Amino acid sequence: LSSGEVVTRDPATGEVLASYAAHDEAGVEAALAATYAAAQVWAATPLAERLGLLRSVGKLLTERREEYAALITAEMGKPLAEALGEVDKCAWNCDVVADLAPGWLADHEIASDAARSWLSYEPLGVVFAVMPWNFPFWQVLRFASAALAAGNAALLKHSPDVTGSALAIEQLFADAGEMTGAPDGLFRSLVIAAEDVADVSRRIVADPRVAAVTLTGSERAGASIAAAAGAAIKKTVLELGGSDPFVVLADADVEAAAATAVKARFTNTGQSCVCAKRFVVHADVAEEFTARFVDHMSLLEVAPMAREDLRDQIVRQVEATVAQGARLVTGGRAIDAPGWHMEPTLLVDVEPGMTAFDEETFGPVATITVARDDDHAVELANATTFGLGASVWGAPGHALAVGRRIRSGALFVNAMVASDPRLPFGGTGRSGYGRELSAEGVREFTNVRTMVVA
Ligand code: NAP
Repeated sequence: LSSGEVVTRDPATGEVLASYAAHDEAGVEAALAATYAAAQVWAATPLAERLGLLRSVGKLLTERREEYAALITAEMGKPLAEALGEVDKCAWNCDVVADLAPGWLADHEIASDAARSWLSYEPLGVVFAVMPWNFPFWQVLRFASAALAAGNAALLKHSPDVTGSALAIEQLFADAGEMTGAPDGLFRSLVIAAEDVADVSRRIVADPRVAAVTLTGSERAGASIAAAAGAAIKKTVLELGGSDPFVVLADADVEAAAATAVKARFTNTGQSCVCAKRFVVHADVAEEFTARFVDHMSLLEVAPMAREDLRDQIVRQVEATVAQGARLVTGGRAIDAPGWHMEPTLLVDVEPGMTAFDEETFGPVATITVARDDDHAVELANATTFGLGASVWGAPGHALAVGRRIRSGALFVNAMVASDPRLPFGGTGRSGYGRELSAEGVREFTNVRTMVVA
């Protein structure tokens, strides 16, 4: 391995926050050995004790919410209020898993010719996780709570942009482990220099001590990890990008739709896989929706994007879309100030074939496309390779009927797409496969074992 360093920067100023020594070969090996050893002990630990660890993690998250939120804001730039919300959601998720996992992981009886037959949900071993910077705590706690509840250990390769968060989460699990007597090494974070990431990740995926892999991030990263896992015949869960449609039908409450639409697009400065990205609006209400959307946009406070290259990329996507014939209503440029800010942007007259319609826009850019009728709205909503969430607005029965015709991992009627620890979360198509959260998420990291007693 290169004797590299990992440097984090403040997106609000561009200045260096901290520098971390990357793990060397021995460091990677020690982390693998520690998680593997912990996984053996943890698999034999009663469920109630495993869930006790998660309760302690939740308690510590609440006690330390200000500290963790400040770290999140410093490393990836979201407003402090949103960072506090992220930490609180992580704590809530720990409680939900602790409360509901006994049901999710209970033996599932199935009648057959045998005296007794059932499914038993058994741990797999070490789960290797590759995670992104957009929700530095949530993305990690989401997978780790499920993996650990199911009796596995977790080995994390976080985005280098949020290395401080990665190490804080490692410490969080270590502290909770000390409080509850959980084995040391149950959760480890690797710090890998950028030039080594692909190579080290491939080797970890291939290592016999690793049982399964979960990745949240881009299609490129997902394809690379899944190829390595395929070669090693290991289970993967992939949460990739999205270009979620937000469909406004002729009988929608247009003001409610527009107010929620702006929130659904611009939360986290547009850097969420389930942000609404393409607004498909019935011709009868398009003018009113657009005017109200612009009104709500004017109230937005601008937070920086997480990285300069991501900001520059989305500015290029906007420029390309305008060159292809879309009309820029507002925004469109990088803000000439320290840090990586971009103006909140609205493009109209956007059509399939244009960059901002066809590609994911991971930043503060909304596009409006007008639909002639419901069939056209469905056709436009489905004109994407992604399939994460879909939001449809209209009279409930009507909106539900239209929404059923849209391909997605989740459908929200008269509400924005959002994750909830009690409900499964995941995509279809190039948004990935597998589920996180809820019973389905916990069971992804289990061997669903068929048990028969004659
Ligand atoms: P990214 O490159 O996919 O990064 C996500 C994670 O994958 C990081 O930890 C990254 O580490 C790692 N990674 C990248 N290539 C890898 C490889 N070959 N092997 C192993 N790990 C690898 O994403 P990004 O460029 O930071 O963000 C841009 C795009 O990612 C967005 O447009 C969006 O599509 C997607 N994204 C999706 C979500 C989501 O919630 N689904 C979240 C964030 C981003 P390194 O940074 O060290 O390469």
